[in-house]
Amino acid sequence: MAMNAYQTTNHYLERAFELLALPERVRTALITPSREIRVELIIELDDGSLGHYIGYRVQHDDSRGPFKGGLRYHPDVDLDEVRSLASLMTWKTAVVDVPFGGAKGGIQVDPKQLSRRELERLTRRFVEQISPVIGPNTDIPAPDMNTNPQVMGWFFDEYSRRCGFSPAVVTGKPLELHGSLGRDAATGRGCLFAVREVLGAAGKKLEGTTFAIQGFGNVGSWLARLLHAAGARVVAVSDLRGGVFKGDGLDIPSLAAHARTTGSVADFVYAEPLSNKDLLQIECDVLVPAALGHVLHEGNARDIRAKYVLEAANGPTTAEADQIFNDRGIVCIPDIWANSGGVTVSYFEWTQNTQKLKWSEELVNEMLEKHIVQAHRAVAACMEEYKCSLRTAAFVVGVRRVKEATELRGIG
Ligand code: NAD
Repeated sequence: MAMNAYQTTNHYLERAFELLALPERVRTALITPSREIRVELIIELDDGSLGHYIGYRVQHDDSRGPFKGGLRYHPDVDLDEVRSLASLMTWKTAVVDVPFGGAKGGIQVDPKQLSRRELERLTRRFVEQISPVIGPNTDIPAPDMNTNPQVMGWFFDEYSRRCGFSPAVVTGKPLELHGSLGRDAATGRGCLFAVREVLGAAGKKLEGTTFAIQGFGNVGSWLARLLHAAGARVVAVSDLRGGVFKGDGLDIPSLAAHARTTGSVADFVYAEPLSNKDLLQIECDVLVPAALGHVLHEGNARDIRAKYVLEAANGPTTAEADQIFNDRGIVCIPDIWANSGGVTVSYFEWTQNTQKLKWSEELVNEMLEKHIVQAHRAVAACMEEYKCSLRTAAFVVGVRRVKEATELRGIG
């Protein structure tokens, strides 16, 4: 039977534990989440009836700094998924060397079924329920799937009403509400730097390299725009409603304008229609899952025709697919490094908030590039040392750093 998201993350972790020959007590300390919270959220809907939703916050590890991780609104959110994503955040913040631990939150809801007022009420209720265990030096949420700067703005406001002015309690806020320049594009930009480094190490360039991207939300759309501007060819893009294809490269600025007006990339007239399934199997250099988890699995991994998989989404590849990719020589650029640009600029936002400073966009982008490139150096050196995949090397780098902090602070 295929592993669930949490088992998959632990499977990757165990490999790193083996290579580092960690004793059992250290493994237990590293793998076990620090705290798991489930909250019942009852809100009044616009028609006067009551809506009942379930929310989660899992705080995995804070040995290197406050818990940090996004907040997802999706009907499939469950404890296993949030646990897995919280753990991934611990290793991600360590790989990219920002002084945070790992956490994740989510509400089991289809936000498209709620009005703006209902979404605001739900967000405020969630903050009310978890406010005793979060804070600027404790746990700092951020946007993820179906949450955006507006949701973070409500989050900041509700927490500040309860605990006093606290912009640093959440990142990914609107610019007008203590957000950071460059945060919106940060995850996509970090993905661009990561793939550029991996291609560069193989003597290749972004210019002319072909990309297919699943997901055209925050991460996918920014990545597409930045790739297009860098001279890469984005040949296919899809979202929840379908996809589009153009062999000599999509006109991404026009596609982005179309998606802004219609709410989807589907039906873009200057390209051919394409299903989500076909997008994954298209011939291209780099396939980019930038939407959901576990979209690359045992059932389709042998049909993938890309040479690289750039994991812009969290956990898009199952352990079985990962093994198939390794056997087939397909290089996976792992989520815990590839999409770490978001949390890196979240760190810059938090730093600006705590120091009451405003950085320029140039400084944010320059510092982001530095973190991604330095992380690549550490991961590449580890790959060489252990003769392992990029994913295993990234886990080894993350685990080594968290283990050192954990031992220095003292276990038990
Ligand atoms: P988003 O909500 O802005 O966009 C999600 C996109 O995926 C939308 O275009 C949506 O239509 C599409 N989508 C949803 N279900 C789909 C399906 N079944 N098939 C095809 N497309 C589908 O979310 P986002 O913030 O861009 O996050 C995307 C992924 O990146 C998630 O896995 C998230 O955890 C990860 N991530 C996000 C950030 C960030 O800063 N936002 C940081 C790191 C990782």
